[in-house]
Amino acid sequence: LAAPSAAGQGSDGQPEGAVVLALDVTEKEETDHLRREFSGNVSHELKTPLTSILGYAEIMKAGIVPQADMPDFAAKIYSEAKRMIALVEDILKLSKLDEGLGEEAHGPVDLQEVCKGVMNRLEAAAEAAQVSLEFDGTEGSQPVYVMGSLPMLDELVFNLCENAIKYNKRPGQVKVTLTAEPVCLTVADTGIGIAREHQERVFERFYRVDKSHSKMTGGTGLGLSIVKHVVKRHGAALELESQQGKGTTIRVCF
Ligand code: ADP
Repeated sequence: LAAPSAAGQGSDGQPEGAVVLALDVTEKEETDHLRREFSGNVSHELKTPLTSILGYAEIMKAGIVPQADMPDFAAKIYSEAKRMIALVEDILKLSKLDEGLGEEAHGPVDLQEVCKGVMNRLEAAAEAAQVSLEFDGTEGSQPVYVMGSLPMLDELVFNLCENAIKYNKRPGQVKVTLTAEPVCLTVADTGIGIAREHQERVFERFYRVDKSHSKMTGGTGLGLSIVKHVVKRHGAALELESQQGKGTTIRVCF
């Protein structure tokens, strides 16, 4: 409550009216809570591979590993360290998005080109997973422009396609469709699907339906939360349709 200025005084010199300042702290508290939870999760997620690395290194250091098993131990350390790097990279991407960085790179982005680039980069992974990767773009490869950030949109398309390959069956299919009017990107797979009770939660940071599968495929549990963030930053809409055992379709409309 603030006292009014002299101009707000009545004829008897007493204050006339009042100024009330109400601050809604709910959102801030929620953000603080999410931040604390995120730091806790980050520490846990980083500690797990680090503990493995330490364990393997200790045994090797003690000289009790037979020479023939050394490459195996080294490979385990290598893959845990790779996992840590992937985690740190994803955490950095998320914190960049949180801080609104990368916006300086805003401009017209051709989604058709982004999709083609992602398809090229994922070709080998799809082949190794026995998944056919099909792209249905615009007629005559006409560009599809949206205003946004190229690295962020590339990340969005990449994460959706990578998941569609990772959580697929053998053999499986992934179809990526891009339309110009309206501008919509659809990634449909014939994979394992997501049960109803997990469908909202998969966009949460570190949420994974099946931790062991995700670890095997090198997931960090951050891919879809990055997607959600990028969608929000671009004022787009996100839709998920999935049937367990049948497949998943994710659509982003700009
Ligand atoms: P991850 O790094 O584990 O893949 P994401 O945030 O990308 O993390 O996805 C979260 C979880 O959602 C995954 O662990 C997986 O269980 C599930 N998921 C994501 N995409 C698909 C998909 N296309 N089909 C089935 N499950 C999926």
